[in-house]
Order: sequence, then structure tokens, then C-alpha cells
Amino acid sequence: MTEKNVVENFITHIIDEDLANHKHNHVVTRFPPEPNGYLHIGHAKSICLNFGVAADYQGTCHLRFDDTNPEKESREYAEAIKQDIQWFGFDWHENQFHASDYFDRLYAFAEELIEKGLAYVDDQSPEEMRENRGDFNRPGTDSPFRDRTVAENLQLFRAMKAGEYADGSKVLRAKIDMQSGNINMRDPVIYRIKRMHHINTGDAWCIYPMYDFTHCISDAIEGITHSLCTLEFEDHRPLYDWVLEHIDIDCHPQQIEFSRLNVSFTVTSKRRLSQLVEQGTVDGWNDPRMSTLSGLRRRGYPPAAIRSFIKSVGVSKKESVISMTVLEDAIRNHLNKTAPRVMGVLRPLKVVIENYPEGQVEMLSGANHPQDESFGSREIPFSRELYVEQSDYQENANRKFFRLTEGREVRLRHAYYITCREAIKNEAGEVVELRCTYDPESRGGTADGRKVKGTIHWISAAHAAPIEVRLYDRLFNHPKPASLENFMDAINPDSLEILPNAMLEPGIAGQDDEVVYQFERNAYFKRDKTHETDKPIYNQVVTMRDSWAKIEQESG
Ligand code: ATP
Ligand code: MG
Repeated sequence: MTEKNVVENFITHIIDEDLANHKHNHVVTRFPPEPNGYLHIGHAKSICLNFGVAADYQGTCHLRFDDTNPEKESREYAEAIKQDIQWFGFDWHENQFHASDYFDRLYAFAEELIEKGLAYVDDQSPEEMRENRGDFNRPGTDSPFRDRTVAENLQLFRAMKAGEYADGSKVLRAKIDMQSGNINMRDPVIYRIKRMHHINTGDAWCIYPMYDFTHCISDAIEGITHSLCTLEFEDHRPLYDWVLEHIDIDCHPQQIEFSRLNVSFTVTSKRRLSQLVEQGTVDGWNDPRMSTLSGLRRRGYPPAAIRSFIKSVGVSKKESVISMTVLEDAIRNHLNKTAPRVMGVLRPLKVVIENYPEGQVEMLSGANHPQDESFGSREIPFSRELYVEQSDYQENANRKFFRLTEGREVRLRHAYYITCREAIKNEAGEVVELRCTYDPESRGGTADGRKVKGTIHWISAAHAAPIEVRLYDRLFNHPKPASLENFMDAINPDSLEILPNAMLEPGIAGQDDEVVYQFERNAYFKRDKTHETDKPIYNQVVTMRDSWAKIEQESG
């Protein structure tokens, strides 16, 4: 049996029961994004749940664009959403729909409600309507237009559709109960007049149905069995059910609510994400610091790792904020197993090995994964001049510093022992070159049993591939940016650091740029081809727990 996509939860229990009772014999779910922005990590939960549950029960999951709000929607967004879902590992096959596919039928259902005396055209101004709606403590007041006759309502609604009235001058409302304890049931608006070009229906309509009216009917038309949505729709469920009970349709999906996914130090709301893009705080929706799926893709997060994160979070009705560390750990755990190891030097410092013959190049073998032989090995050129990490040299090092300082010996990964003899400084007093010697007997990293505690990475200078490295930190420096009055106040000014002079061992860039590599002792990196520059750009996917430093401390 293959592993399930979704861990057992209260929703799978409902489905199990519905199948056992023969209420349904086939599960149909839907993922209903509004094409008004890019998908984010929160949507990933809904995607994993809807597509995952459908797959686990050999059912079907529809992709339905919830496109009832033309002023904010675009084709660019719709295309990006499809690309992101596929990248994330799910497929709607032939089941792509739009709420706008149903505009004719929705209109007919609205007339049906009018004919049944269950909907009326209201001429009140938006302010009057808001005032008469009441609030949590105060019941609503009936509109003076509430008792229009069926004939009058039909005539007015048809005139609305025909474009005879100005935008916002009239609405169609369901006639439910202005005294209801649930404000959503106080004669909710179901149609409004809005002259706006629609991405799918063009200028065919000047009236558009509201979300609550559209969503339940779209679900029913498509034969959805379980309509899974987030908790803020709980109070809308009575309206969902009311609409389906009062129109002539023989399908009544069950709406089930679950809690949203929130991740600390990030925002998961298209409104806020689009603000970051519009204000130029980030480099577009796919900026690697964004919590969008396209940002995480560009950053180098493997979709399977995000899926296993979502799976570990589970599905419940409890609101919570998941720590960013949990997400990053999931990425790390995945990459630790899957990422080939290479050597990349982020801040190069030149090393000259004085006793190594000039012009000589030697190929040394390096394992691509220390714990997994199936990754094989590669040949790495070694020569007289190398680059090492600036931070691997210290002028006044104490006894516990096992790397380069005058007179101290270290192991070069996959290569030789070298001893630092002298540091050359420029006029500003900065160390610009280390003069070292090597022990020719130590090839492969061992020699006469003497103990060398430090191992550092390096690249042959003549063979090194210049790259640009981009290090990322959290975009926000507050764990709950959305809880602030202005979330933009929490922007971390140091979320991006560009290292323009990094070096990578040869033969990696351009080989398979979809691979995430571990630059040993540094972090995980993936090539970013979004912008063409003269050097390959590598994004830091995620840092490693600094196990090297820890090992050094323990052994020191
Ligand atoms: P946003 O606030 O980002 O605009 P939304 O809910 O308006 O979110 P939709 O495009 O309407 O965005 O969402 C599509 C589906 O994804 C809906 O079923 C919604 O409930 C779900 N969804 C959105 N955000 C989250 C989240 N943070 N966690 C889980 N599901 C989510
Ligand atoms: Mg929405």
C-alpha cells in the first residue's frame, strides 16, 4: 500500500463515515483559488488537503478559479497559480473550472429565488444598508424595499442585468432574516452591479454574483462531496446551506472548516504579499524571501519537502502559528538526504602552497555524499593556488581554533594537510593571502597518524568558477507581522546579503541547475536563473545547523 498524502484527521473520519454509509461512493473535492495574487505557503495546506484527500480515496479534485471579483483578478495570476500547483506536485487533469463558467446558471438560480419570494432588489445606499444591518449586539432593520412583489423584483433584476442602472445603485439580496443572530444571514447581498471587464466573460455581464452565493452553487454543480475551507467560513455555512436548500438542485455538498496555516516571521495573505510587491520591498511575487510558492521555488525549496512539512502540521480546527524553524527543519532534513556535496567558497581568501610545484594540477577524488555511496564521487582539481574561506583564518587564534593561523596545520577536504606559514596583508592591514606549505604524504587527508582537528573546504584558484551568492534571512523580524498595526514596520532590513565574489568548484554550474547542492560547511544553495547576469547566481536555500562549529567545540 502506498503512503497516504493526508494523515488521518477529523475530515478523513467524516469521509470514512460517508463512504461506509454509502452517502457517497466517490470523493470529489476542489481547490478554489481566487486569481487575485500568487499562491502562498498557506494555500499549500489547502492544496495538500484537497488534492491529497482526493488521491487517497481514489477520488477527484477540481481546480476551480473563484473569479467573481473582476477588479482584482488577472490572467497572469491564474497562469501562475496553475504553474505553482503543478510544480508543487498535484494535477487537476481535465477538471479545471471557473465560477464564471456558471454565470448563466447562477443568474437563473437568482431568478428562481426571486420567483419563490426569497430574493429582492434593494435600492438602499451602501451606507444605509450597513446601518440597517445592525451588528453583533443590535438586530438589523428590514429594508423599505424588502416587500417588493415578485413581478417587480424580476423586472428590476432583469433591468440590472440589462445595464439600466448605475454601478452600486441597486443590489439583489436574499430574503432571509434581518434579526438573525448570524449577521451573514441578514439578507446578504447576492448580486451587485459592477461595470468591469472580466478575465473570462469579458463585458458580457455588468452584474456579478457574490462569493457566498456563487461558491455553494458552484460546488453543487460540480458534484463536490466535501467542500473544505478555512475556519473564517464557519459562520457562512448556514448561508451555504440555505442557498442550496432553496434552489432546485439535487446536490448538497458538505462544507467542513479547518484552521488556516500560519507560519511565524511571515505573512500569508495575498493582500499583504501584494503590498510588498507593489511597494518594491521585494523583487516581485517570486522573490526568494516571499512565502509564495513561486518564491519558495526560486529559493530552492523542494516541493516534496514542503509537502512533508504540511503533512507534519496535520489538519485540525485549532488556530496556531507554526514556527518558521519547523519549516526550515523540514527543508534541511530533506536536503541532508538528497543534496550532493560540493565545495563553494563564499568569501574567498587566496592560499599559495609554496612547496607545491608551479603549473602542476592533480585530480583528487571527493565523495558526493558522506553518508550515501550511491551519490558516487567526482574529480576535483588541486593546484598551487587555492581559495579558502576568509573566516577559516584568524590572526590571533586561541587554542580552540583548529583552522588556519600561523604555524597551525589543517586538513583540506579530500586533499592534503597544509600548514599556515605567513599571512600577507595589504596597505589597509587586511589579510589578502596566506603562504602555506603542504605535506605530500597526507594525500586523501591522512598522514602518519598525527592528529589534525580542523578540516576546511577550498577550491583551486585557476579552476574556480566565479559565482554570485545571495544569502537570505527572514523578511520580517517580528514573529507575527500581521498582528502589528502596520506589518511593514517589521521588515528586516538585512534580509538579503549579496556576495558578489564567491567561488564554486568547476563543473557544477550549468551541469544540472535544478539540483540543490550543499556547499559543504556553508549551506544549501540552488542556482537562480531568473535574472541573467555575467555570473551564475546561487540562492541560499537554507542554512545548515552549524554542526562543524559544534563538533569543533566539543572536540576542543
Ligand atoms: P488570502 O488571504 O491569501 O487572499 P484567500 O483565502 O482569500 O487567502 P483564496 O484564493 O480564496 O485565498 O484561497 C483558496 C483556498 O485556499 C481557499 O479554500 C482558502 O480557504 C485556502 N487558504 C487560503 N489561505 C490559507 C491558509 N493560510 N491556510 C490554509 N488554507 C488557506
Ligand atoms: Mg479569498
